[in-house]
Amino acid sequence: MKTPRQKMAEQDPQVRISNFNEVPSGFTPEQAQKEAARCLQCKNAPCRSGCPVEIDIPAFILAIKEGDFAAAREKLLETNSLPAVCGRVCPQEDQCEKVCVLAKKGEPVAIGTLERFAADWEGEEPPSPPAAGPEKAKVAVIGAGPAGLTAAADLARMGYRVTIFEALHQPGGVLVYGIPEFRLPKSIVFAEVEKVKKMGVKLELNQVVGATLSLEELFESGFQAVFVGTGAGLPRFMGIPGENLNGAYSANEYLTRVNLMKAYRFPEYDTPVIRGKKVGVIGGGNVAMDSARTALRLGAEEVSIVYRRSRAEAPARIEEVHHAEQEGVVFRFLTLPLRYLDDGKGWMEGMECQKMELGEPDDSGRRRPVPIEGSEFTIDCDLAVVAIGNDPNPLLPRALPELKLGWKGTIETDPETGATSIPGVFAGGDIATGAATVIEAMGAGKKAARGIDRYLSRYTISPRG
Ligand code: FAD
Ligand code: SF4
Ligand code: SF4
Repeated sequence: MKTPRQKMAEQDPQVRISNFNEVPSGFTPEQAQKEAARCLQCKNAPCRSGCPVEIDIPAFILAIKEGDFAAAREKLLETNSLPAVCGRVCPQEDQCEKVCVLAKKGEPVAIGTLERFAADWEGEEPPSPPAAGPEKAKVAVIGAGPAGLTAAADLARMGYRVTIFEALHQPGGVLVYGIPEFRLPKSIVFAEVEKVKKMGVKLELNQVVGATLSLEELFESGFQAVFVGTGAGLPRFMGIPGENLNGAYSANEYLTRVNLMKAYRFPEYDTPVIRGKKVGVIGGGNVAMDSARTALRLGAEEVSIVYRRSRAEAPARIEEVHHAEQEGVVFRFLTLPLRYLDDGKGWMEGMECQKMELGEPDDSGRRRPVPIEGSEFTIDCDLAVVAIGNDPNPLLPRALPELKLGWKGTIETDPETGATSIPGVFAGGDIATGAATVIEAMGAGKKAARGIDRYLSRYTISPRG
């Protein structure tokens, strides 16, 4: 009989809604070896084509099967600087696992969970790669999110002297200020950042490039190329009446207060955040699921997801929707908020909504939601969190008028090298694609590191003079 795909143990939904601890606990060594034995070790390994950071998937899985967990971890670290992060939040079902041969007739190998297992393995510290020699050029990386960290680590591996300039007081980008602790513990992110620093990468925090420091100043101080990985941190709003009421947050502000400003560690940190009793979260993506599940953990009695399309069109990972449902989040599909209601004292007391039905497909290929006349109704809520998407951070592009921009202010890049319209300036991740995924941002960082290497290798003296 075929071995079924192994499943991680999880905290009970009723227990976990009152804590911020991680929900699944990872494979045991026995489970990991059992799951690894399901891999067919295919010669052409189609799974590899689904991994933007080019992990040698069969090789690391074979090492797990053979019980050499430290070797599996080292294999991962050869190409992926953040494997413990990817093993937790990478949308594996749309990446490597989608093209695993076992997916054709049944369940794919649990590649992501195996990656998490090997990355978490606490054996002897892996040897640090040699530090950059003085002969290679200095490269500046702007933004310490997954794109910037990957570009920095790959460039350091090639021998460049890399400094990351990060606007916030902590590295990690969305991994730290967006994705909540119960999905991705901050200690995991910081441990991976430490490994990147051990490769010789310098990290300068509280440096807002474009405000406290200009790109020209970076070039003048000896950096010969720059990678911009500043992400998409500008929240979108619906533009409906009542958005200025007390009790209306963007998901960015809400999650940043809880994660980065540590409201989740109350009473140790008494960060001001509105803890609604009845919460409406608008949107159908991962950010909406994270906001809804966070609201429950902060003590909300009733949390609804309000989404204008149906379940089939919701972009959130299936696992996240499932976890939210298990925890008691109510889904109100085909529902559009029209305005927020004022209690007369400037505080939110509800949202007026309209029911929708699905029409013809729109530009995104998904069926367009069409309002149903006369279907207006009210949802009681004292907190509304808007999670309908983010646009690129405008600060740096605004400071560089010669930078060619694309749709919604994204930086235009060559998709293979990350090169922008300014020589020596490269970009990748959400700032170039608009809000996407961790692994896409990391893949872009990897490609840009190669692009920068090719650009700098052409010169024996400084390319800019
Ligand atoms: P970011 O992670 O945004 O990092 C950019 C960094 O640049 C930040 O640290 C920022 O402070 C810094 N910065 C900005 N401007 C400047 C400046 N001028 N100077 C210096 N530094 C600057 N993706 C998944 O794959 N799986 C998930 O489960 C998932 N869940 C998500 C949940 C939430 C709540 C959110 C918001 C996003 C989620 N995503 C998920 C998307 C994913 O996190 C992003 O696509 C990814 O982080 C983009 O990486 P990045 O490096 O391009 O940008
Ligand atoms: Fe799959 Fe993502 Fe891991 Fe690559 S990083 S092997 S795509 S889970
Ligand atoms: Fe293993 Fe699936 Fe990759 Fe084949 S495609 S090597 S079975 S993970």
